Amino acid sequence: MIEKNAKNRIGLIGGGASGLAAAIFAAAGGASRVVIFEAKDIPGKKINGTGNGKCNFTNDNMDPCFYRGEHPEFAKFALGRFDNEASKRFFEKIGIKAKVKNGTYVYPNSEEASSVSAALRLAAEHMKVEFVFERVKSIEKEGKTYIINNQSFDKVIICCGSFANMKDVTDFNGYKLVKTLGHRVTPLYPALCQIRCAGNFFKTINGVRTEAELKVLSDGVLMASESGELLFTDYGISGIPAFQLSRFCAEGRATGKKVNAVINFLPLMTRDEVKKEVDFRLSGLINDGRTAEETMFGLLNHKLNYVLLNLSGIDPTGKGPIGSEKKDRLVQNLTEFRTEVTGTNDYSYAQVVAGGVDTTEVDPETMESKLMPGIYFAGEILDVDGTCGGYNLQWAWSSGYVSGLSASGKSIPEDVTEFLKDRFK
Ligand SMILES: Cc1cc2nc3c(=O)[nH]c(=O)nc-3n(C[C@H](O)[C@H](O)[C@H](O)COP(=O)(O)OP(=O)(O)OC[C@H]3O[C@@H](n4cnc5c(N)ncnc54)[C@H](O)[C@@H]3O)c2cc1C
Repeated sequence: MIEKNAKNRIGLIGGGASGLAAAIFAAAGGASRVVIFEAKDIPGKKINGTGNGKCNFTNDNMDPCFYRGEHPEFAKFALGRFDNEASKRFFEKIGIKAKVKNGTYVYPNSEEASSVSAALRLAAEHMKVEFVFERVKSIEKEGKTYIINNQSFDKVIICCGSFANMKDVTDFNGYKLVKTLGHRVTPLYPALCQIRCAGNFFKTINGVRTEAELKVLSDGVLMASESGELLFTDYGISGIPAFQLSRFCAEGRATGKKVNAVINFLPLMTRDEVKKEVDFRLSGLINDGRTAEETMFGLLNHKLNYVLLNLSGIDPTGKGPIGSEKKDRLVQNLTEFRTEVTGTNDYSYAQVVAGGVDTTEVDPETMESKLMPGIYFAGEILDVDGTCGGYNLQWAWSSGYVSGLSASGKSIPEDVTEFLKDRFK
């Protein structure tokens, strides 16, 4: 039995991942009325497209180092109080059986993202959360209350997400809303998207997939590196490692830096081993009457071999001895292939937006605004972005939990297990 807080009406702007979580926890905390304003005609629409329709909703390898922003330490409290184990336990309680894939990636056993949004909606409805399918255009303060779409609330949780994945970014008014409340929005960049690079050769390797190590350098300084399967497109690099590093590319370019992507195509070999491999092929196999390209068969995808030979000054169709300078250049291109980054794909391709409400203006232990008492935040509207792998949804659940419970007037328990035990049966 939830004890109702006599007068604590909570209005939420956005019924996505963080909004649904925040509403459920606000109701569980005893708020007298919880109303979600959602611009679309159903709640949780974005969740349905996550994880390629399967919804990678958390990750068993949880650590604050997977989060970025101007002050990434901001996320620590919420992630600590409501972690991946709490997410799994909470979702099991509302009907979503968790399944771990590829070591640590957590999905619903149904492998249907729509089951996650449905379970959240059903739990919210069961807890008497009300839905109003209207866009919020303004938040007005009247004495101690806030007015949203002609309704009065004691507390407001802003959980309207970002314009990631939207065709027209002008359809999104979330940043404008928070600015009217006096909050600063940090610079915004597309994140978790494809990297665009200079060079005509990308057209030749369009569609090629290869395991490699990718590094991003900004004005020569290493920003981050990732290993995994790269997918080349006719304009640059896609695949998980490119997604993970895209925010550094977007940020670097936007701040006028020279950004380079550096690829090691043979990350499991030492440079000496690569040198021996190149010698075996271009000083050995070449004597069997093979062309340079034919000597490279079986090392990398043939389209990549062709491009890398060309870029090393070696004619792929040529036969006969190759000078050591060209062989050294090929070793260099195989292990430290450097290409200039011209940018990233735009927001319509991005899974998340890096940047958002300046987290120095928000209390990390409640998610309440330090500028406007009674205003709370959750999810992607804040300047917190996670890497690929369930980290962004985990942030939505964690920040939703802290904001919802705090807005309801409850302090955040040290042990979430106790809190969840008697609820959501
Ligand atoms: C294609 C894709 C795949 C993804 N896959 C994954 C994944 O597998 N794992 C993972 O962790 N993350 C994934 N993400 C990221 C994740 O979906 C988001 O980080 C997460 O949904 C953010 O939650 P949120 O509540 O902040 O925003 P959202 O889920 O976007 O919800 C915000 C809601 O607010 C509403 N809204 C906006 N403005 C207003 C307004 N003015 N008035 C009323 N309502 C408003 C919107 O309509 C929306 O429903 C993916 C993202 C995309 C685009």
